[in-house]
Amino acid sequence: MEEYKYEYHGRFFLEADGLSMHFPAKTDAFGRTTSWIHAADRVSFKVPKGKTLGIVGESGCGKSTVGKMLMNIYQPTEGRVLYDGVDITHLSGKQRRPYVKKMQLVWQDPYSSLDPRMRAGAIVEEGMRNFLPELSEQQRREKMLQILNMCGLYEEHASFYPHQFSGGQRQRVCIARALSTDPELIVCDEAVSALDVSIQAQIINLLMDLQEQMQLTYLFISHDLNIVRFISDEIIVMYLGQIVERGTTEKVYLHRAHPYTKALFSPTPVFTPGKKPEKKTLLQGDVISPVDPPAGCRFASRCPYAQEKCRKEDPPWSNLEEDHYVKCHLFA
Ligand code: SF4
Repeated sequence: MEEYKYEYHGRFFLEADGLSMHFPAKTDAFGRTTSWIHAADRVSFKVPKGKTLGIVGESGCGKSTVGKMLMNIYQPTEGRVLYDGVDITHLSGKQRRPYVKKMQLVWQDPYSSLDPRMRAGAIVEEGMRNFLPELSEQQRREKMLQILNMCGLYEEHASFYPHQFSGGQRQRVCIARALSTDPELIVCDEAVSALDVSIQAQIINLLMDLQEQMQLTYLFISHDLNIVRFISDEIIVMYLGQIVERGTTEKVYLHRAHPYTKALFSPTPVFTPGKKPEKKTLLQGDVISPVDPPAGCRFASRCPYAQEKCRKEDPPWSNLEEDHYVKCHLFA
């Protein structure tokens, strides 16, 4: 694949270098794996410090798998994760500890990711106990209150249990917990998907404010392009385990090229009196199985422009313009 260029002088803060994740699908009589589920294939990207990379795609496209490989929840089948230039892919528990402190995760469902028996204050202090042992009890409490405040919560919220918060407030507690270890990178995996639209906007604004204050780097994973567009500096679009389009947010949004990205960005028709609503692109055809996918384009079964070549040959990467790349035979 052609190297993806980025206007950045210095080393990249986070790098995924050819990450693949294959899970066994079938075994033979001797217990040997005969076919594999390709959850992610050769996924590469680079994120400078203080920036946000958005990963977007439908459910099952591999975007969360990529997040889990970065967070060491999955060990990649192939490829490397580089954190500020250091290969952290195969570090042992003890070697990895400093990176666990620096890399935090905010999940989709704030309710199930918080211990219902713990008060919000204790939830936020837990990370400090593990990773900032130098803090006294008094310092921990002060820091906890400061973080809650930064996340738009008040002192009295420290004594609340998760069920006493609204959905948006619970996600604020999750973000506060992530901030408790003084992280540099936060992976937000569908972090606002379970929230109402107005609350989503508040949480996105909070994340953007925190990024500015703390120079945080985000990997923002979502199926919703409009949300990803709002918060990201760059976007990668994934389909069935592969990246199919990538570039700066503006380029991918305004000059979307891959037929899949176009369908994903296709607007929900809005009725305006006197105006014909813009047509929504509906994808036809079945999604191919991720078990030993064919050599050709994985989107061919749903693509309105598919040709014979698409079914046989893996599309090459094409450079459409500066900072904008697409993997499709139409542009080769
Ligand atoms: Fe469609 Fe072919 Fe492009 Fe795949 S390579 S997106 S099938 S035109």
